[in-house]
Amino acid sequence: MKALITGGAGFIGSHLVDKLLARGYQVKVIDNLSTGRIENITHVLNKIQFTKTDLKNIEDTLKALKDTDVIFHFAANPEVRVSTVSPEVHFNENVVATFNLLEAMRRMDVREIVFASSSSVYGEPEEIPVSEDAPTRPVSVYGASKAACENLIHAYSRLYGMKAVILRYANVVGLRLRHGVIYDLIMKLRKDPTRLEVLGDGTQVRSYIHVDDAVEATLIAHERTGGGYHVFNVASEDWITVDEVVNIITEELGAKPEIIHKPILHGVGWPGDVKRIALRIDRLRELGFKPRMNSKEAVRVTVKALIRESG
Ligand code: NAD
Repeated sequence: MKALITGGAGFIGSHLVDKLLARGYQVKVIDNLSTGRIENITHVLNKIQFTKTDLKNIEDTLKALKDTDVIFHFAANPEVRVSTVSPEVHFNENVVATFNLLEAMRRMDVREIVFASSSSVYGEPEEIPVSEDAPTRPVSVYGASKAACENLIHAYSRLYGMKAVILRYANVVGLRLRHGVIYDLIMKLRKDPTRLEVLGDGTQVRSYIHVDDAVEATLIAHERTGGGYHVFNVASEDWITVDEVVNIITEELGAKPEIIHKPILHGVGWPGDVKRIALRIDRLRELGFKPRMNSKEAVRVTVKALIRESG
């Protein structure tokens, strides 16, 4: 099968490239290298077709789609905090880019899209863990941009008969991660091991999934579903607080910093941050998915890997 991965030089996308190659897919990658890094795919450049392409350019996108069976759409600006100060980034990089891709798919007759959505589409759910049937009420422009992309994909799927698989990922962590709370905290401690500023009151609840599990879930959802439109939560089955993440990082670095919490509003770290989010994964389980690591294990393995990676 011929797969195109948008954002394939990014964190999750590059792990997906590795897995698709191992499964015998023919792999093309397009990426504008805005947040991704060519180093993430250097080891497979002789096995894939890589083009530096920006999805905001429709003509280049059309060319890239030639001879493609399935698109794994992972390109986006993934940093939730960006939308607090520059909301247009998420509108352009996520919504406009996805619209261009769908238009290119329609014109080039590509029949399947697998989309990297996010648990942020749920906003602040009343209860956790939340199922796929819960209403989508995002509280960040990032979350809103992902919900808008889901709706565009739904319309294209219905109108033009494309198969669509929507994956609402929890916090994905692992080797090559370059954004988000774990990476930020490690970098801060590397600069100053004596004091650590933590955004929020530390009680924010999150579910973490290791990237190997997230990629496995992605392929199961793609390979074990028929035509039509499908939505899946992708997470481990438990959750931990930001303070627990901080403890794992300080333990692994052998640091004993003064911890300074910086809460705003109801204890969150920034406008658009969610206080409690965790996902039910019954739908994926029915397809045979079982995460190998829980949240704590995924965080610890990642912290060790990032410490090794950053020297
Ligand atoms: P990442 O930044 O490492 O990967 C995104 C990739 O998309 C980068 O390589 C970037 O250069 C590329 N890109 C961005 N805009 C582009 C454009 N206009 N044209 C072409 N390429 C473009 O981030 P990631 O963590 O690997 O996230 C991958 C996807 O998963 C994103 O859609 C993100 O929103 C989603 N997601 C990530 C997480 C997480 O915890 N990491 C959670 C939920 C959803």
